[in-house]
Amino acid sequence: MLEIKGIDVFYGDVQVIWDVSFRVGEGEIVAMIGANGAGKSTTMRTISGILSPRKGEIIFDGVAIHKVEPYRLIEMGLAHVPEARRLFVEMTVEENLEMGSLRGEAKKKREDNKEFVFSLFPRLKERRRQQSGTLSGGEQQMLAIGRGLMSMPKLIMFDEPSLGLAPILVRDIFNIIKSIRERGKTVLIVEQNVRQTLAVADRAYVLENGKITMEGTGQGLLHDEHVRHAYLGV
Ligand code: ATP
Repeated sequence: MLEIKGIDVFYGDVQVIWDVSFRVGEGEIVAMIGANGAGKSTTMRTISGILSPRKGEIIFDGVAIHKVEPYRLIEMGLAHVPEARRLFVEMTVEENLEMGSLRGEAKKKREDNKEFVFSLFPRLKERRRQQSGTLSGGEQQMLAIGRGLMSMPKLIMFDEPSLGLAPILVRDIFNIIKSIRERGKTVLIVEQNVRQTLAVADRAYVLENGKITMEGTGQGLLHDEHVRHAYLGV
């Protein structure tokens, strides 16, 4: 469904991504793990069209997308739930959800999509009229995910969904990611929370200093000597 082929990404003259290639198959949960500054968010921002690769290609559903505008990518079925959630804090829960379905099919089916989101997150339904800046951290993360789902994506990308959440909520978020896949979506996730991420991922890639250094199944990497030493502290 998504294929990244040999991309290089720069900020000005500074290269941060080096010849990165990976793929995400339909219905998979694929993870990219790596330390702070490895380039995970940069990779994700490149896929969602905010940054352009200087070299290489990105293919989504058979179409080259590395020159496509971000809003078009959303219409094509690619959603990005960014790090730090980026909610409209002055707006209500419901208004934030509506911001996720501004165009096309997603706009026409807005009410159905809202019901879909509320079925995953009953808490958001209860709080639909609450100003989103007053939600708890976990509720805000649910809302960011819900807003991503409002565009009816085929592929949803999560940037550090567990960041800043208490352990019990981290578990909830990973369970929600599994149930999103069960409802027919494909998932790409970048995370520093290596243990729980590998536990839910079908396959994963390790990014170090802007390069892919390892790949394998989630379970395989979870038991790999280097991964255990470098990322799990064992
Ligand atoms: P983290 O988990 O800490 O967010 P990350 O793996 O997502 O890390 P990136 O945010 O992609 O890493 O950053 C990769 C490198 O690019 C870092 O060295 C960072 O300092 C640099 N970088 C990120 N954003 C910019 C920017 N806007 N301008 C210049 N350099 C940047």
